[in-house]
Amino acid sequence: MKLYNTASRKLEEFTPQNPKEVKLYTCGPTVYSFAHIGNLTSYIYWDLLVRALRQNGWGVKRVMNLTDVGHLVSDADEGEDKMEKGARREGLSVWDIAKKYSEAFLKDFYALSLVEPTKICPATEYIEQQEKLVDLLDEKGFLYDTEDGLYFDTSKFDRYADFAHLDLDHLKAGARVDFSNEKRNASDFAVWKWIKEGEKHAMRWQYRGHWGYPGWHLECSSIAHEELGEPLDIHTGGIDHVMVHHTNEIAQSEVAFGKQFSRFWLHCNFITSDGAKISKSLGNGYTFADLAEKGYTPIDFKMWVLQGHYQSERNFTFSDLHAAKQRLLNYRNFAALRHQGEGEAMQDVREGILENLNNNLNSAGAFAVLDRAISGRTPNEDFIKFLDDTFGLDLIQTTPDISSEQKAKIEERKRAKEMKDYALADKLRDELSREGIAVLDGKDTIWQYK
Ligand code: AMP
Ligand code: ZN
Repeated sequence: MKLYNTASRKLEEFTPQNPKEVKLYTCGPTVYSFAHIGNLTSYIYWDLLVRALRQNGWGVKRVMNLTDVGHLVSDADEGEDKMEKGARREGLSVWDIAKKYSEAFLKDFYALSLVEPTKICPATEYIEQQEKLVDLLDEKGFLYDTEDGLYFDTSKFDRYADFAHLDLDHLKAGARVDFSNEKRNASDFAVWKWIKEGEKHAMRWQYRGHWGYPGWHLECSSIAHEELGEPLDIHTGGIDHVMVHHTNEIAQSEVAFGKQFSRFWLHCNFITSDGAKISKSLGNGYTFADLAEKGYTPIDFKMWVLQGHYQSERNFTFSDLHAAKQRLLNYRNFAALRHQGEGEAMQDVREGILENLNNNLNSAGAFAVLDRAISGRTPNEDFIKFLDDTFGLDLIQTTPDISSEQKAKIEERKRAKEMKDYALADKLRDELSREGIAVLDGKDTIWQYK
């Protein structure tokens, strides 16, 4: 399997340290509001990664954090705390905000039929481990104290600039304007923040006799160490994590634990929405509730995401989502054919799909193989199960019976077709489709849930 490793900027052959247990870490969301389609895109790409790893016969041990400790809006340890912002917006406590949006995120996660991670770790449950990591960094002489917090001195870590190919001199010049605190270097970052007199910060812990809270990057280093151990096989995140978050995770982990943090780093690109960067003011950060209002399911959205490549910058539009929904419907109709007579194992198609996925998760190529195979062939149950295992598109659905009105519509449509009233037949088919039912004409008319 070939994967693009951000650390080397190359496609590399991936083999796990232990085939029974690929150690995979994913940076999870900050749970202070509903996830929008941009946030959710990355988890769909990483689900494809998990499924592709499994298709190679490897077991996957996957850990994902939930950032429920407030961290600041800017990467530079400045600005407003996201959890506090959410709490003020809704008149709830920060703890209730964390609970509400952790649950909302997991609901979206499961609605996408994503493989459940081995462990999901809220950062607030790993405070002790984070304190220990700070102690280790301090013992090794990498920290200095300021009024604002304990900072990591990046000039002491020789490889600091390597991962993101940072130009530290340029960074310094750029930061000079607002470089007024006690930071020694522009790239230094807080591992622990102190809460000052009068400062409102509800999430707080006593550490070294003061109230404070951990810096954002710390949780991933601590959780990955506790749950997986270094080196990880693969660490994933958004492209926005490369310059600061992952660079800082590497510095902390490699200094504290003396081992390479992760062998592979995979980063997914951003999506724009309606041709623009996703932003609140443009109202283009759609949630799954927005998609549902327009008649689209999370799996329709997943189909749209999987049509493209995780490293490409892509633009989301409702017309493309509609096309993806139609494509998914074609696949569901194809899947329904498995009930009709002898189906084929389609070994050639399986191989073509896996070859594409093993080429840096080329799902677009995999679907092209499938599209070519669909016309004129009948799959067996096993092949459809393989497709579901590989893409998680719920082609086989186990849903209760349809309503009597819907059954009547199917019968009415059958009669309309017999009478050659195709306009009525199409109208009824569209209605059923909107209700989530795919009708397929073969020897017998069959239907299934989409
Ligand atoms: P947050 O919950 O705000 O920490 O965001 C979680 C992650 O979602 C970010 O770090 C990005 O990796 C990802 N993300 C945010 N916006 C987009 C977008 N428009 N496209 C793809 N990923 C995004
Ligand atoms: Zn992280």
